[in-house]
Amino acid sequence: MSSSTDIGRNIAEVTNRIAQAARKVRRDVEEVTLVTVTKTIDVERVQVAYEHGIRHFGENRVQEAVGKIGQLDIPATWHMIGHLQTNKAKDAVRLFDVIQSIDSVHVARAVSRHAQAASKLIPILLEVNTSGEPQKYGFRPEEVANAAREVALLPSLRIEGLMTVAPLVTEPEEARPFFRKLRELRDQLKTSLPNINWQHLSMGMTDDFEVAIEEGATLVRIGRAIFGERQPGRQVF
Ligand SMILES: *Cc1c(COP(=O)(O)O)cnc(C)c1O
Repeated sequence: MSSSTDIGRNIAEVTNRIAQAARKVRRDVEEVTLVTVTKTIDVERVQVAYEHGIRHFGENRVQEAVGKIGQLDIPATWHMIGHLQTNKAKDAVRLFDVIQSIDSVHVARAVSRHAQAASKLIPILLEVNTSGEPQKYGFRPEEVANAAREVALLPSLRIEGLMTVAPLVTEPEEARPFFRKLRELRDQLKTSLPNINWQHLSMGMTDDFEVAIEEGATLVRIGRAIFGERQPGRQVF
């Protein structure tokens, strides 16, 4: 785990690496937003990250986020990045500003229903299982267009793009095909469903975010490079 000083230094380093990766492929660094993943990290450390300029945070479990987001009274954007159960949709709508992990039309309907009741419009991403690993959540790539057509009709959600979690690999390069697949899918959807906003590609984590940026990521979700290794046994996907 990183100390407060480390957190500041790590943020500076990650920010630099993001800029370098963007520069390498001649992308504007402003197109890439760092979402700092705070799962298992206590509020004091999240506060330190905030004080070092972080404004986008990600949590993967509603239950953990409830206490944390409530305690931290900071004007930040909270992203839900983990699998959402329909019975948690109401809390998710209350807590999160963006839901990146919409992985079924069923959960989209539940989120829209609660958002409507709360007079909110929730920006969402459709999560895609680009690797086909059976334990992974997300739409199969070939399902996304039809799902998007249905989700786009829901009154209180606004699709803003796609999200994926690449497989665990030993070399960052090995993740590239999955990021490329998400970008190519997005490019096809832009053509086939031009009335939907396909702006965002959320992809890339601590071990592979530079490759993801080279392939077009607009949101990178980074935990360990900022806070250090999570405590064993508390890591929950
Ligand atoms: C934990 C998590 C991350 C961040 O992973 P790190 O390897 O710590 O950068 C990103 N995305 C999702 C969906 C996660 O659950």
